[in-house]
Amino acid sequence: MKTINHWIGGKPVEGTSGRFGPVFNPATGAQEKQIAFATVDEVDAAVANAKAAFESWGTASLAKRTAFLFKYRELLDAHRDEIAALITAEHGKVHSDALGEVARGMEIVELACAIPEKLKGELSTQVSTRVDVASIRQPLGVVAGITPFNFPAMVPMWMFPLAIACGNTFVLKPSEKDPSASYLLAELASQAGLPDGVLNIVQGDKVAVDRLLEHPDVAAVSFVGSTPIAKYIQLKAVEHGKRVQALGGAKNHMLVLPDADLDFAADQAINAAYGSAGERCMAVSVVVAVGDTGDELVGKIAERAKGLKIGPGTDPSSEMGPLITREHRDKVASYVTSAAEQGAEVVVDGTGYTVEGHEDGFFLGVSLLDNVPVTADAYRDEIFGPVLCVVRAETYDDAIKLINSSRWGNGTAIFTRDGGAARRFQLEVQAGMVGVNVPIPVPVGYHSFGGWKDSLFGDHHIYGNDGIAFYTQGKVITTRWPDPSDGGINLGFPSHS
Ligand code: NAD
Repeated sequence: MKTINHWIGGKPVEGTSGRFGPVFNPATGAQEKQIAFATVDEVDAAVANAKAAFESWGTASLAKRTAFLFKYRELLDAHRDEIAALITAEHGKVHSDALGEVARGMEIVELACAIPEKLKGELSTQVSTRVDVASIRQPLGVVAGITPFNFPAMVPMWMFPLAIACGNTFVLKPSEKDPSASYLLAELASQAGLPDGVLNIVQGDKVAVDRLLEHPDVAAVSFVGSTPIAKYIQLKAVEHGKRVQALGGAKNHMLVLPDADLDFAADQAINAAYGSAGERCMAVSVVVAVGDTGDELVGKIAERAKGLKIGPGTDPSSEMGPLITREHRDKVASYVTSAAEQGAEVVVDGTGYTVEGHEDGFFLGVSLLDNVPVTADAYRDEIFGPVLCVVRAETYDDAIKLINSSRWGNGTAIFTRDGGAARRFQLEVQAGMVGVNVPIPVPVGYHSFGGWKDSLFGDHHIYGNDGIAFYTQGKVITTRWPDPSDGGINLGFPSHS
């Protein structure tokens, strides 16, 4: 069985812990690979390599850094299909969706190619007689990234290209469930000329994560994953004196006003709820139907949901693939059962679904739950699967109150033809990313991604300008080249003349 090892100092390094995790093909349910879990010493070796590489990479010219990034972008472009195939093999999402993930990750590499423009400082001349002030931004040193299973290529690419472009060196701890795509990303970076040690990968579990959080030579940590772990990462990283951004889970609401085009809204609800089997932090998991739209909208969503083609991600006709593991599939299914017991109406029941020829795969059909009580577990928890809840609200005000009472605030969307209502919603809703007739408002690479409340811990969103601010520290330099007449003693606080 193939073992996925570490990537340290620009080459593969075999794990020595004797501890391994299984990597499944979710479409067949078979374990096809194993992943070596790092020891503390292996994490230390990766950090030491990154620290040594920072000596020269941290001062490498912008020309040298961008030469790598442009070449890297070309190599990624040439290997899109291969990266997507690895994602499908270990995550399960359909190939076209995996290609979309690669493209969205490459956006950040493209942004990173513009780093000379982004890192331009500020200069004020003659702030006082013969005194100039310059503000510059410098890299932090060694930065760590810890990433989730659901975007095994894109989320690592939210982090390391920009961190590296800013002059940092990087240690990535990918999800142990689908590590091969990010491993290929590191190999391609080496092929594109990235010096050894600038990008390292340690595979692993809590042992590796905790060592990265405690290591004195790690200056900052970017994390994306579930809310309880995000909270833990933030607290522990801060305790160890690190800068941290920790993006957590979500429960994204899509508000549909009575004036919306209901066919369009139903199409978008389907795409956003069931794409990637609902395993997206920006998936729509709740539709809030306002006024008398509910019955018609639910009818339209149900009709579309029943026609979806579920199958292995390698089959071009499949629209939705399996879930990540058997345990997760069963947990998602249990929310459909408990919702029925807790007062919801099961309009489409996806439990017990099998795909012919793939009976052991981690497949689940799509489910649609109507009139879900806000006290039901299916409404209160992040399900992270193909289960869409519909909640009814009498008015816009009731709907916004409901959305704003959620503990999460990642993404949200309004569907309407009324510009005034959309404008109110943008200003009133408590979430970090808002769509107007756009169900999954994932910002483009040159804006930043991040939620509010329990969806993000830390002060910076990820990528875009916030990403650059996160991966750099500011320095302000006040300069005077004195004239012999500038001498003299003055103990007063510096002021300007
Ligand atoms: P997860 O929190 O279980 O794992 C994320 C990472 O943390 C993995 O690398 C994992 O190995 C590590 N980890 C897990 N348990 C740990 C522990 N006890 N101590 C230390 N490290 C630990 O998340 P997941 O299941 O891989 O991903 C799904 C979650 O990620 C969902 O909640 C989803 O909403 C969220 N997510 C959020 C965003 C966002 O941008 N806000 C994006 C993608 C996914």
